[in-house]
Amino acid sequence: MSTKAEMIKELYPEDLFNYAELLSDGEVEVLAAARKVIEAEIKPVINEYWEKADFPFEAFYKLAEVGIMNSPKLYVGREGERKPSEIYTAFLYLELARADASIATFYTVHGGLGYNTILLGGNERQIEEFAPKIASFEWQTCFGLTEPDSGSDIAGGLSTTAERKGDTWVLNGAKRWIGGSDTADIIPIFARDVEDNKVKCFIVRKGAPGYHAEPIPHKASLRAIRNGHITLENVEVPEADRLENINGFADVARILVYTRADVAHIAMGITNGAFVAALDYTKQREQFGRPIAKFQLVQEKLARMQANAVATLGYSVRVAQLQEEGREAMTNSSLAKMHNSLRMRETVALAREVVGGNGITLETDVARFFADAEAIYTYEGTHEVNALIVGRDITGLGAFV
Ligand SMILES: Cc1cc2nc3c(=O)[nH]c(=O)nc-3n(C[C@H](O)[C@H](O)[C@H](O)COP(=O)(O)OP(=O)(O)OC[C@H]3O[C@@H](n4cnc5c(N)ncnc54)[C@H](O)[C@@H]3O)c2cc1C
Repeated sequence: MSTKAEMIKELYPEDLFNYAELLSDGEVEVLAAARKVIEAEIKPVINEYWEKADFPFEAFYKLAEVGIMNSPKLYVGREGERKPSEIYTAFLYLELARADASIATFYTVHGGLGYNTILLGGNERQIEEFAPKIASFEWQTCFGLTEPDSGSDIAGGLSTTAERKGDTWVLNGAKRWIGGSDTADIIPIFARDVEDNKVKCFIVRKGAPGYHAEPIPHKASLRAIRNGHITLENVEVPEADRLENINGFADVARILVYTRADVAHIAMGITNGAFVAALDYTKQREQFGRPIAKFQLVQEKLARMQANAVATLGYSVRVAQLQEEGREAMTNSSLAKMHNSLRMRETVALAREVVGGNGITLETDVARFFADAEAIYTYEGTHEVNALIVGRDITGLGAFV
């Protein structure tokens, strides 16, 4: 039986500042079990699914058996909590995104965006009904916020409508880019109440008449996750399925504070994954009679990637610690998402450089990280939008328009 320190070293050799020591024994055990599933089930099929633009559901749901959201090992000392620790969450995203960004993205719409929407927006009865089934992966969920004509300006631009008729709400409109929306069992849809103009959230159940979700075709990034274009035509939702605690965009923003940090963690995971894949390759590949890792110019790039791996981990871990202490803040989540995405983009480009011609095929994993990084750079607030959130905070001057 390996000690915790040995397990951590084996799992995350790129974690030179030893951030993983902050994890509990049980958390490390769950992450190590997840690693086994990723190696045995996900990695062997992910390129094939990426190429055919489909999601490896069967392989992914093997992670549910590990209990990545609900294993009792994650709740030792935090009995009664609905979520594992924020540090564990950061490392779970590292674990997933280090292997594949579509897998991490599918998880974030389910276990991050969807789950937090229920926990922060639902009343006790709704949390009781939905949360355990989401945590066990019995029900798949997602997050329907952005629209064909509103992405960055969704706070003011949200145009899907909800009209109350007795105890039933009638939804009309469209949503775009919604990950997992063509297979989800429960679909949180944000819509504007025609009566008071406030944004509210409605749980649309699978098979609801008038709900259609078509996967968006021809993507060059995150090909392995299906992002849906949703249309809602007179979709009826009972008042009992309206999330009671979402009564304006400020309540949506409370969810995004957490989920934006999650995406910072995904960028951190991609940074680490691209670096590790590039490092492995440069140690194997020989040119001029020696491994290319022996050349000074290659080592300089490896060192920069290593620095980015540690820097992104540092941002993720500190934001996670602040959230765990109840000191969450949108500025910090935006700062982390912006910073980690910049470092991710630099790292996948450096990784691409050192893997040469083979690096434009799926063979080394680097091409997949390179392509997938572009979507992460854009979703959960583009680089510019997160920069403007930080800018507003440090100057006191809003500059969105
Ligand atoms: C793969 C993927 C998955 C996604 N998954 C989901 C999901 O599950 N659920 C969901 O609700 N949404 C999802 N989204 C939507 C995502 O949040 C939006 O794409 C994102 O907010 C950007 O909106 P947009 O694409 O409409 O770009 P736009 O808002 O059209 O922006 C285009 C460009 O203009 C810039 N820009 C816009 N406004 C300003 C400004 N004021 N100042 C300076 N520059 C500005 C942007 O930064 C960007 O560079 C996903 C998107 C992608 C690509």
